[in-house]
Amino acid sequence: MAQHQFQTEVSRLLHLIIHSLYSNREIFLRELVSNASDALDKLKYLTVADDAYKSISFDPRIDIAFHKDEKAGASTLTIADNGIGMNEADLADSLGTIARSGTRSFLDKLAADAKKDSNLIGQFGVGFYSAFMVADKIEVISRKAGEEAAWKWTSDGKDGYDIESAQRDTQGSTVILHLTEEGTEYANRWSIEDIIKRYSNHVAFPIFLTYDEKEYDDKGKEKGSKTKTDRINSGTAIWRRSKSELKDEDYNEFYKQLGHDTDEPLFYVHTKAEGTMEYSTLFYIPKKAPFDMYNADYKPGVKLYVKRVFITDDDKELMPTWLRFVRGVIDSEDLPLNVSREILQQNKVLLNIKNGSVKKLLGEFKTLSDNNKEKWETFIAQYNRPLKEGLYQDYANREAILELVRFKSTTTDGWISLADYVSRMKSDQKHIYYITGGDEKTLKASPLLEAYTANGIEVLIMDDEIDDIVIPSVGRYKRPGAAEGESQEFELKAVNRAGADEELGEKKDKTAEKESKPIIEKLKKALGERVKDVKLSRRLHDSPSCIVADENDPTMQMAQMLKAMGQAEMPEIKPILEVNGDHPIVAGLRDVEDDNRIADVAGVLLDQALLVEGIKIKDPADFVKRLNRLLVK
Ligand code: ADP
Ligand code: MG
Repeated sequence: MAQHQFQTEVSRLLHLIIHSLYSNREIFLRELVSNASDALDKLKYLTVADDAYKSISFDPRIDIAFHKDEKAGASTLTIADNGIGMNEADLADSLGTIARSGTRSFLDKLAADAKKDSNLIGQFGVGFYSAFMVADKIEVISRKAGEEAAWKWTSDGKDGYDIESAQRDTQGSTVILHLTEEGTEYANRWSIEDIIKRYSNHVAFPIFLTYDEKEYDDKGKEKGSKTKTDRINSGTAIWRRSKSELKDEDYNEFYKQLGHDTDEPLFYVHTKAEGTMEYSTLFYIPKKAPFDMYNADYKPGVKLYVKRVFITDDDKELMPTWLRFVRGVIDSEDLPLNVSREILQQNKVLLNIKNGSVKKLLGEFKTLSDNNKEKWETFIAQYNRPLKEGLYQDYANREAILELVRFKSTTTDGWISLADYVSRMKSDQKHIYYITGGDEKTLKASPLLEAYTANGIEVLIMDDEIDDIVIPSVGRYKRPGAAEGESQEFELKAVNRAGADEELGEKKDKTAEKESKPIIEKLKKALGERVKDVKLSRRLHDSPSCIVADENDPTMQMAQMLKAMGQAEMPEIKPILEVNGDHPIVAGLRDVEDDNRIADVAGVLLDQALLVEGIKIKDPADFVKRLNRLLVK
């Protein structure tokens, strides 16, 4: 008998599962059934796709049985399948380690908040290990399809497991749970049926339950018992049934099993395409974004079936990356069953299904935004960010996505769309204005906004890091269905850039310009290489100064972000300093000739403008020194 230690992550995971999922421990059965179903899917696929397995004929099935021994206090629950099975190495790999690399960071996230987010851990597909919530010993007897040897894996779920040689007549796995005292409640016909109906009714293979039924004679006296086996799930592929036959509960139940979620989905989209292409899709949008949405090795949420036969649940190409939060099933009638991974990648049929599905989902998102405020807000709170990714990844659907993304703004508290913005623009306004770089609070306090606000121009507050990359690439917004003569297209302009101030009411008046010329010259001289230019501002009302980026330069905030991300090679970006000629600090410079004094004022004007935008200043001590000198005067 070989003794093995669990990988450290497994021990941690076990601990977490037992403590955070305990109140919901019945899900262990759903997990074991779903593993059995996966194993049957895999073997079924091989028997059609791989010549080496063609000779195996099998009737896929899952069998559940229990044994209750009240006196000895030793009850067991057994879940068996005749699927792909595992050999010695598979057992050690699958039931002794956690393969996915995002696991560690995931565990760290959970450990901080273990009790609160049992939903997360469910989505993670903790699967097999959840059985240790009800069992203090588990045996797995397994024989891999096409191999003769069978193996037994045994563990108490503490720190390791044993693997020894065993016997099994056919391929498949038998999982035997030695139930704890509390776990004994599951060694019971009614609770098993209840849990299976609730979580696993739509598993595509038959699930049988074997139990003993007492028999009575004519006088009602017990005369013995008889062993019976009943099928306990309905087992139809729900996505192939017609919508009219199905109720919300059916859809929700299937989702919980498919998405490993204890919560109901936010909504679902069920489509059957007939005609030149025949396929069914059933998509779900989870209420909460999948925990691994921002991991590079996220698990795709959509499974591919061909004529009801499972093909893969691990193909990231089935959906565009920006829709990676979608859960569901694609089932095609037009693909060959033995379609290989490589073929899938450039398969025309699949590409058409994918494009159709994206269009369908976009349409549903739009409908939701028009008709269901509450759900829409949940949706946006979770998925605004991936939608924005779609803006630059999915050029073909950019216009549709642009109608869906939402932004914050200077005039309202909630989310607004670009259509909302355009509909309340002043009639002579030519552009859509936005500000990026920093959190909402910093942005809203930016002096750059003063003149826009004073002129009644709304500005979009873009406080998401990704905005700085996405929005400039979008460039313009086209109003859908604009009437004849109305302007159709609007340029998106960042207010923290040179050239975004041309619409600001007060035209630079020639005399003001002339009068402040000597002041500007003094400031330029004093600041020298620290700035790209110094200009008289049109956008300032109350503040004395602000900084903007030159039209084609990255903003200072963006430069700061790139640097923080390790892009040390960035060339230094110099800001343009704009000053408010009407502000006493600036106007007061006209009669000052003392170069030291001018240098102090100039330095403070620049550094404070940087500080308000949330940018780190290079020499804080110098700033403080200058400020103090000015305060003394
Ligand atoms: P997941 O199902 O998300 O991969 P689990 O913890 O439920 O995670 O299972 C881990 C792995 O163990 C599975 O991926 C599979 O390779 C293997 N496994 C579990 N149960 C079975 C089974 N009944 N038949 C074959 N393999 C199984
Ligand atoms: Mg599983």
